[in-house]
Amino acid sequence: MHEPERHKRAPAQPFAIETLRSDFPLISASPDCYLDNAATTQKPLCVLDVMDHYYRHSNANVHRAAHRLSREATAAFEAARQTVQQFINAAHSDEIVWTRGTTEGINLVAYSFGQLAIGPGDEIITTTLEHHANIVPWQLLAQRCGATLKVVPLTQEGDLDQTAYTALLNSRTKLVALSHVSNALGTVNPIADMIQQAHAVGAKVLIDGAQAVSHFQIDVQALDCDFYLFSGHKLYGPTGIGVLYGKQQLLQQMPPWQTGGEMIERVTFAGSTFQAPPFRFEAGTPNIAAAIGLAEAIHYLNGFDFSQRQAHERQLLAHALERLMPLPGLRIIGHPLERVGLVPFVVDGIHSFDLGTLLDQQGIALRTGHHCTQPLHQHLGLEGTLRASFALYNRVEEIDRLADTLGELLQHYSNTATQSGISRKTSSPEGQQQQPLLQQLLQLDHWQARYRLLMKSAQIQPEIMELRRQQHLLSGCSSNVWLTYHYDPVTNNLYYQLDSDTRIIKGISMLLLELFNGKNPRDVVSIELQPLFQQLGLEKHLSVSRNNGLHAIIDAIQETARRYL
Ligand code: PMP
Repeated sequence: MHEPERHKRAPAQPFAIETLRSDFPLISASPDCYLDNAATTQKPLCVLDVMDHYYRHSNANVHRAAHRLSREATAAFEAARQTVQQFINAAHSDEIVWTRGTTEGINLVAYSFGQLAIGPGDEIITTTLEHHANIVPWQLLAQRCGATLKVVPLTQEGDLDQTAYTALLNSRTKLVALSHVSNALGTVNPIADMIQQAHAVGAKVLIDGAQAVSHFQIDVQALDCDFYLFSGHKLYGPTGIGVLYGKQQLLQQMPPWQTGGEMIERVTFAGSTFQAPPFRFEAGTPNIAAAIGLAEAIHYLNGFDFSQRQAHERQLLAHALERLMPLPGLRIIGHPLERVGLVPFVVDGIHSFDLGTLLDQQGIALRTGHHCTQPLHQHLGLEGTLRASFALYNRVEEIDRLADTLGELLQHYSNTATQSGISRKTSSPEGQQQQPLLQQLLQLDHWQARYRLLMKSAQIQPEIMELRRQQHLLSGCSSNVWLTYHYDPVTNNLYYQLDSDTRIIKGISMLLLELFNGKNPRDVVSIELQPLFQQLGLEKHLSVSRNNGLHAIIDAIQETARRYL
């Protein structure tokens, strides 16, 4: 396959941020600040083009037909495998197994290596820092085969406790499953040393490199890890493609996991034999275009001098810490010995989702929540954090914009909190009837103004401490929502109380209370809110999880009313 020539980059381009930004259509076309790169990175034009070119000119299934297109597709697909091999300095290209992403790769190892090497009484070590993808497969494997899962604790600073790790290792340890870089704290783990220690007791080591490949030069031979995994989409490549590196000798011993076409040698009804790795682990038609796209992303990255890339990323991190740390009430979570360009923080008294939504309205994209690391957040005693994560195309000015906007929002928050304290006492001046919230919302002509009003309505509403009890907590909401109700048999009316720790949900709850309170059960169950929510733009502007939470509240309200029909 002939790649479009214009996207060939001469090696070691000088690192010029503006030129680089123009390589990314989504970045250069948008006035917004994209600081959610740990979730996924944007793609350079060359990656988009090479995939487009593949589908236009070379699309065919690989490893099968004898025709030209198939030969071209196979050549490009296998060349991509070699590109990955060189990228992480694997000794052989058959050590590179294509997967859909890190998650699938870990599940592959849990299933296949688990079957080969882990049994009753064995121990698997993982860590407090891990993404769910590097916890749950091991939990299930341990349950299946009678092994035990051990967890490396964290130090106060957010590093893995190395003394505790050493103490956990013993002759029963069969596998250490460990992230290279934490997606929630940014901690860079001292994996080389940890791998050596694990090998000394005869354990194998799997490294989840999802957050590391875009920041470091990976050398799997120097690291001597047994497995290394990453996802293409966090490396400026496409989604739907990932890499499992496994040592040749190990992969050769491992049984297949998914079965079907491509991975077999011979099939009869009496039994089947399987291909050697990597094909043994690649059942079915692979994501050919994405593999080629990922290889192009690697060529693109290789086009820059690594030390310049690293210097830029370090500058972004240092600047972010310097600008965010002084903001009043803002707490950066974790101070590990080494961290990549990823800064998690919380602001006392403001739910991270509320702050994330306010930043979104100012065109700044950050991640909020537990980042698929619930055990870590349980350990930290936090519901979630805001996470700013940087990529090559981010500018120092974008960090300034984040810090300035945050500064203004925090200032505004503390001002309105003080004012609302006063206005709560002096609210509803005599004779002045407040318009119902719904009426006020309908009078506003755009979502942003409605959003502000909902946030304000929540703010002047005090927390109802007696309501905030476990027995009143609703399930199915991504934030905490508490609900109680009272039925008056004389009037046949229902009265509800709602509270939430997320301000936007609390604001919407005010609206729900207005709509449901003082109604008889028949009216409560028959209220149809969908058209109203559409009119207000609620469904469109809230995330899927917020919408689900909202429906869970309405369902719970209507459920109570059914008891009185
Ligand atoms: N591990 C880590 C450390 C991650 O950050 C992620 C993605 N957030 C994953 C695993 C899972 O990656 P994917 O969803 O691409 O399979």
